[in-house]
Amino acid sequence: MDIGIDLGTANTLLYVRGQGIVLNEPSVVAVKAGARHALAVGTEAKETIGRTPGSITAIRPLKDGVISDFEAAEEMIRHFVRKAVPGRRPRTRMVICVPSGVTQVERRAIVHASQRAGARAVHLVEEPMAAAIGAGLPVAEPRGSMIVDIGGGTSEVAVISLGGIVTAQSLRVGGDRLDTAITDYVRREHSLLIGERTAEDVKVAIGSAWPVPGEDAFEMRTFTVRGREKVGGLPKTVDLTVREVRAALDEPVEAIIAAVRTTLEECPPELSGDVMEHGIVLTGGGALLPGLDLRLASATGIPVFVADDPLDSVALGCGKCVEDFDGLERVMSAA
Ligand code: ADP
Ligand code: MG
Repeated sequence: MDIGIDLGTANTLLYVRGQGIVLNEPSVVAVKAGARHALAVGTEAKETIGRTPGSITAIRPLKDGVISDFEAAEEMIRHFVRKAVPGRRPRTRMVICVPSGVTQVERRAIVHASQRAGARAVHLVEEPMAAAIGAGLPVAEPRGSMIVDIGGGTSEVAVISLGGIVTAQSLRVGGDRLDTAITDYVRREHSLLIGERTAEDVKVAIGSAWPVPGEDAFEMRTFTVRGREKVGGLPKTVDLTVREVRAALDEPVEAIIAAVRTTLEECPPELSGDVMEHGIVLTGGGALLPGLDLRLASATGIPVFVADDPLDSVALGCGKCVEDFDGLERVMSAA
């Protein structure tokens, strides 16, 4: 039994050898104060965010790209593995994809958690490597490929050649920061307090990074948010426009672009030449933000492509490692 796990800050995906992606749920654990086990994990737990009574907390074990809660992370992995592969799991090998910024201590913690979840052998793969493999980039060739994976808590920018990461940046700016940028904007400009789930809904419904040609109808859209007045505290609604949400997202979007520029500057010239020629590939949920590709292309002068199914790229890359352990041994580190 071979299982690949994309342990993302927002979503966890499980890939089973011979079957493909079998599970895709939010990386959230709901716990009740004093209880030994989680109240809910995954989709069910995400529903509780912002709606819990004082005694229940919704934890995101990997919130900022680091493991903020080891016990919750372990419980989450165990729960998902049992759910995806019920019954006996003989000789389980796991390939786990972790953000490239995690420390040695965190790596050991993930390996330990996977072993407690039943793994006999555990291999770790760096997130940008898995994303690049999943997006179909020729990682093993002597050619520079640039991948930008924009997740919930972090964005990973990397140039890969000959099966290795040549240069990379991991920044703690991703979908969550886009959400807080919206929350902050609405508080500042409309004196309205909104929750993080509402901010994410706004982003997915009408968020963008750049005007998209031919999408005039989109430009005219508005989205009604419900929240609480900053002063007085009464419920209130506000209509947000596409343009103001784009302005609100400007700062975190620029931070991602700056990281791409830095990575290109640090890259050996032959490899950046390859990237100029073949383009930059975007993966992760953030790649779905309309106009991000155009804005990055305009800022760098390099063509930018969004991977097919960007939310699945990392899990599919993990999956390729699981399907072909020996062939991809070079990109994995045994633990
Ligand atoms: P992680 O790998 O950290 O778990 P994902 O790659 O699963 O993250 O991406 C999750 C992020 O993508 C969340 O912040 C989510 O709000 C964002 N996202 C999902 N769909 C869209 C969309 N259509 N537009 C913009 N952002 C999106
Ligand atoms: Mg991810």
